[in-house]
Amino acid sequence: MKRLTLTFWGVRGSIPVPGPTTMRYGGNTACLDLRSEDGDWIIFDAGTGLRVLGESLDLSKKYDINIFISHPHWDHINGIPFFAPIYIPGNRVTFYGPGTNEMTLKEILSGQMQYSYFPVRTVELLAEIKYRQIEQERLELGNFQITTISLNHPVACLGYRVRYDDRLFVYLGDNEPYYNVFKDKDRELQDFVANLNERLIEFVREADALVADAQYLPAEYEAKRGWGHSTTHQVMNLAVKGKVKKLFFFHHEPLRSDDDLDEVVAHYRKKVVERGFPIEIHAAMEGAVFNI
Ligand SMILES: [Zn+2]
Ligand SMILES: [Zn+2]
Repeated sequence: MKRLTLTFWGVRGSIPVPGPTTMRYGGNTACLDLRSEDGDWIIFDAGTGLRVLGESLDLSKKYDINIFISHPHWDHINGIPFFAPIYIPGNRVTFYGPGTNEMTLKEILSGQMQYSYFPVRTVELLAEIKYRQIEQERLELGNFQITTISLNHPVACLGYRVRYDDRLFVYLGDNEPYYNVFKDKDRELQDFVANLNERLIEFVREADALVADAQYLPAEYEAKRGWGHSTTHQVMNLAVKGKVKKLFFFHHEPLRSDDDLDEVVAHYRKKVVERGFPIEIHAAMEGAVFNI
């Protein structure tokens, strides 16, 4: 079996939260990468964890870097200006991701490097920078076969599924299960919503690892309904229905402390044992490395 390695560089949602209560799981925002033993390498999301990833690289070498952005909210893109390889000639960095109704992917990403926000503009970057705006589609990158899916979030947001050899990895950026916003009992609408949620179960089916937005606890959800994030419970259900093997809670709520996250993981590990579901559960932790 070939080796496929997952590393977390930033695991937090919304905003970086350094401090004594987030030391163990980490305070940087969304960034993870996947490396195969054949040299395939892709990065998902470019939150402040991307800076840490950049620091881990031997910058005397030249890199061909592919970064897949789930969506352009700050916590998923604001590590880019601090990612050292973009300042080094000879590196090639390609950004993949959705545009929005108002802006292209290129406009969005270079927008945060305009003069009023940041001292260096994208045109001044020394690496070769490319943008590839994508939607729901399939693409290949070396030995990685990548499929995307539209998620339910208050801006265009993509989930990514990667097949490598006999392995299947899924990363769901920010996402909330669909529901009937009118809260009526319209049968047609209920079926429509159920079908959309069923699509996601198919997307994650039999994944060896699923990394999914699980920002809220069930008790917090009603006050945050419609904000575009899932609860730990919803993600757990998705993993059970999709027969996922390893589940990683991701995009942790900024207020969630290390001790809270330990408790959440212990709770669900106990539940799956009680119910006989063969799922390995983790809360994503900055710096943690897993073989998929
Ligand atoms: Zn986010
Ligand atoms: Zn978001």
